[in-house]
Amino acid sequence: MAKITHDRRFAGHPALVTGGTSGIGEQIVRRLAKEGAHVAFCGLDDEGGQALEQHLCEDGGVARYIRADVRSDAEMAQLVAQTVAQFGGLSLAVNCAGISHLPLRLADIDPAIWRDVMATNADGVFYAMRHEIPAILSHEGTNGSGAIVNIASILGAKGSPWIAAYGASKHAVIGMTLSAARDYATMGLRINAVSPGPVDTPMLQRALLDIGDDHTKYAGGFPPSGPGRPDDVASAVLFLLSREAAYINGANLLVDGATAAI
Ligand code: NAD
Repeated sequence: MAKITHDRRFAGHPALVTGGTSGIGEQIVRRLAKEGAHVAFCGLDDEGGQALEQHLCEDGGVARYIRADVRSDAEMAQLVAQTVAQFGGLSLAVNCAGISHLPLRLADIDPAIWRDVMATNADGVFYAMRHEIPAILSHEGTNGSGAIVNIASILGAKGSPWIAAYGASKHAVIGMTLSAARDYATMGLRINAVSPGPVDTPMLQRALLDIGDDHTKYAGGFPPSGPGRPDDVASAVLFLLSREAAYINGANLLVDGATAAI
């Protein structure tokens, strides 16, 4: 079978990925660097982030790890400013940083846990977009091809028993994605969401440990084909960032192997 190649679709495009040190975000960073983008990425794992930066640069890519916490508006401002200073602007962004929480019925969720999940998954996407959007709109090199993809979840469009805070935060991600897509639709910036089903990452492994043998506590369930790979999600994200998706704006693309189909 012929191999599909998309070599260097993003040559020289400045890009930013939050949550790029692990799992899905890490694979998005790797794929963007491979396809020629100049990629800044943040996370909270300095050792992993620096090792990934070194590996990608030795491989001929352009990548830079910057420690930044998405729960802080000031740190997101600084992250975007450093990216612009390093790469001369910003045209692409992927907001992927996220956390889940222990399985508990809604009334048993500690307010501190609720706040941390909302701060990371919902506030974090808002803070990141708040600074990414003006940077993308003012970047001359973007030429109307600016794009943002926010990583939501299939649980952002239905109930999430046992992880209500996580589900609520992902509803917020989809809601703000659709609103922002309309806000900037005439300004050369597209904003879409990708909603994965279960994907084999450290987050999924932790969730499986937390629920033990009781798989009914795994909100959303598993598709017949089993969990996806981070690369399955990265492929969809890179498509939405690319010129091939020029008329796709305000979409929420499910990448879930039909998990949500029933
Ligand atoms: P992961 O735990 O492997 O990676 C999470 C990344 O987010 C790491 O780089 C981590 O450092 C970063 N991060 C966490 N809190 C942060 C903070 N406060 N500031 C900056 N960075 C922070 O998880 P993953 O499975 O790759 O998940 C990535 C995204 O995909 C998340 O938004 C998650 O909700 C979403 N998602 C995952 C699955 C799945 O099954 N794995 C399914 C649906 C959606």
